[in-house]
Amino acid sequence: IYILGIESSCDDTAAAIIHNGKILSNVIANQKIHEAYGGVVPELASRAHQQNIVPVVHQALKKAGITKENLNAVAFTRGPGLMGSLLVGTSFAKSLAYGLNIPLIDVNHMQGHILAHYIDEEGFEKPPFPFLAMTISGGHTQIVKVNHYFDMEVIGETIDDAVGEAFDKSGKILGLGYPAGPEIDKRAKLGNPKAFKFTKPKVDGLNFSFSGLKTGIMYFIQRETKENPNFIEENINDICASIQYTIIGILIDKLKKASKETGIKHIAIGGGVSANSGIRQALKDGEQKFGWTTYIPKFEYTTDNAAMIAIVGYLKYLEGYSTAQNIMASARLKI
Ligand code: ATP
Ligand code: FE
Repeated sequence: IYILGIESSCDDTAAAIIHNGKILSNVIANQKIHEAYGGVVPELASRAHQQNIVPVVHQALKKAGITKENLNAVAFTRGPGLMGSLLVGTSFAKSLAYGLNIPLIDVNHMQGHILAHYIDEEGFEKPPFPFLAMTISGGHTQIVKVNHYFDMEVIGETIDDAVGEAFDKSGKILGLGYPAGPEIDKRAKLGNPKAFKFTKPKVDGLNFSFSGLKTGIMYFIQRETKENPNFIEENINDICASIQYTIIGILIDKLKKASKETGIKHIAIGGGVSANSGIRQALKDGEQKFGWTTYIPKFEYTTDNAAMIAIVGYLKYLEGYSTAQNIMASARLKI
C-alpha cells in the first residue's frame, strides 16, 4: 500500500510517501521568507505553499521511485493550523484523489505528531497502549492519554502560550533569529543551567502556563541591561541554558504528575520542541528516576513533516476509512 501524505498547516510545505508503514520519501520546503518578520506571516505562507506544493509532491514521488498511478490513497492535514495554509494542501489533496479516483483521507496534525511513533523505523520502538504523549510544539502544549490510535484524551494543556512560543519569544527578547528554539538549544549546551533562576508558574492540575515566564525573562533582561548594556552578549549561553532548564522543569513536573495520576509509565513526546536535546535527555533520565519507558521520535519526525501525516493516513486506510470530497479544512480542529 502506497500513501501520499501532504502537510501544509503552517509555514512548511511537505510531502511524504509511505509504503506499508515504512517511509520512502519525506520532502520539506521550508519558507525562509518569514525570518525577516520574526514570525510566520499567514498571507505569505499561503502564497508560498501554492508555489511549493506541486514541486514538493513531484519530488516525494520521484524520491520514492513511484508514480502517482501507484498511489492507493492521498492523506492531508485538515487542521489545526492557519486557514490559508491548510486550504492549499486540502484543495490539492482533494483534486489529486479525485483525479486518480482513490480514497481521500483527512488527518489531524496533532494526531500526526503523536502517531509519528508508529512509523516503521529501525532502532525505534512503538509505544504500547495506553501511553501518555506530551505534544510540545509551536502552537500546542498538551498531555494526551492515548488509549488507541484514534482514541485520545487531552488530560492537560496550556492555558496561554505554547512551549514553542516560550522558546521563540524568549529568543526574540535576546535578539536571536526566528524560530529561536534550535538556537537556544545549541547555546544551552555551552552554558550553565543554574546561572539564573526564573520563577516557575503555579498552575493547577495538569495544565501549563508559559506567558508569565516570558514576562519574567523580559523584566530580568531589562533590569540587567540597565546595569550592563553588554549583559546579553556576555551571558548568552548561560541565559539560554537557564531558560531551557526552567522550561524543561515545568514540562517534566507535569509529566510526572500525569504519570502518577494515570498509573501509565509509557511516555512519548512529539512536536517541534521534542527536537530539543535537553528535553530528550530529561526524558531519558526519567527512565532511571521514575521507572518510565520513553519514546522519542526520530529527529526528522519532530518538527512539521508529512511522514507523520502519511502514517496516520496509512493507519486510517487499514481501517477502511475515507472521507468525502466536500470535507473542509478546519483551523481549530481538536484531537
Ligand atoms: P503545531 O504543531 O502546534 O501546529 P507548529 O506546527 O508550528 O505548531 P512545530 O513545527 O511542531 O510547530 O514546532 C515548531 C516549534 O518547535 C518552534 O516553536 C521551534 O522554536 C520549536 N523547536 C524546534 N527545534 C527546537 C529545539 N531544538 N529546541 C526547542 N524548540 C525547538
Ligand atoms: Fe506541528
